[in-house]
Amino acid sequence: MKKHNFSAGPCVLPQEVFQKASEALINFNNMGLSIIEISHRDKNFIAVMDKAQALALELLGLNDKGYKALFLQGGASMQFLMAAYNLLENKAVYADTGSWSSKAIKEAKLFGEIEVIASSKDKNYNYIPKGYAVPSDADYFHCTSNNTIFGTQYKEFPETNIPLVCDMSSDIFSRQLDFSKFDLIYAGAQKNIGPAGTSLVVVKEDVLEKVSRTIPSMLDYKVHLDKDSMFNTPPVFAVYVSMLNLDWLQNLGGIQEIEKLNNQKADLLYTEIDRNPLFTGFATKEDRSVMNATFNLVDESHKEVFDKMWKEANINGLNGHRSVGGYRASMYNGLTLESVEVLVETMKKFENTI
Ligand code: PMP
Repeated sequence: MKKHNFSAGPCVLPQEVFQKASEALINFNNMGLSIIEISHRDKNFIAVMDKAQALALELLGLNDKGYKALFLQGGASMQFLMAAYNLLENKAVYADTGSWSSKAIKEAKLFGEIEVIASSKDKNYNYIPKGYAVPSDADYFHCTSNNTIFGTQYKEFPETNIPLVCDMSSDIFSRQLDFSKFDLIYAGAQKNIGPAGTSLVVVKEDVLEKVSRTIPSMLDYKVHLDKDSMFNTPPVFAVYVSMLNLDWLQNLGGIQEIEKLNNQKADLLYTEIDRNPLFTGFATKEDRSVMNATFNLVDESHKEVFDKMWKEANINGLNGHRSVGGYRASMYNGLTLESVEVLVETMKKFENTI
């Protein structure tokens, strides 16, 4: 029986995406061949890559605005350094809102001066810093829209007149934003895009080719742009499944529709976290993530009982990250409302048991 999968990523994708992906593994486009045994130069695969890139831009509302979409390898972690390699000449400014931001900062320091202009480290990253000014003399400002581990999310982004770079790994395609405010967006695929193995990079072309350093080909956005994400063999299966998933989202009505469902799921769970006296939320309320809800038991001695109950309810992937402890319910686009209902029911039953 299919589990209710709250895993933080890789994570659940819509069942119809799994179904179509498994069919293409055996017989893709009725070619008598698997999607993973044809050349990436075959017109059937080129059509997949073109569609995946087009869907990404269309869903973000970035068609005809000077942006290109790339599907690259190396995960979001590779983007920590590629962003700096390609955009950092002298100094860049960063917001440190969690483990992933810190890792991005560490990599960028290899390429120039990095100033951390906002941080929530003082409170174990349980909030999003606000009210700071972004200096105008830096090459770019980097932020992390959703902090997967701590369960916090920007509701508003600081105003800036320098290029805005954002790691949207764990909330891209989940909510409506003015994506044209961003000059470089990147995201590991394995949450709202598709399987692990590829990352989406959406770049405004006019921010490139401003740095004086020589960039190795594989790390150069311009090289990948010129070759339409086909500079070398792309991760064909990951791109194919991403295309299926983005197509699913578009058929559903796009970000506008999924946002309503995501808000419904998050409201249901946070309402229970706040109501149930046995639980306490981790993140500051106003900064709570719609994607990753982090919460703890008020009394840790009940852990064994609750863990047994949610496992028996066919729930998977609820354990929190070690830096927060407790629980994390990741409610990405592919998770159904029914799964959240099952979790909330289990929390209520737990309350009645204790
Ligand atoms: N940034 C964020 C916000 C993430 O959640 C993650 C992974 N969960 C990463 C970066 C790193 O991604 P990857 O494992 O694809 O390198």
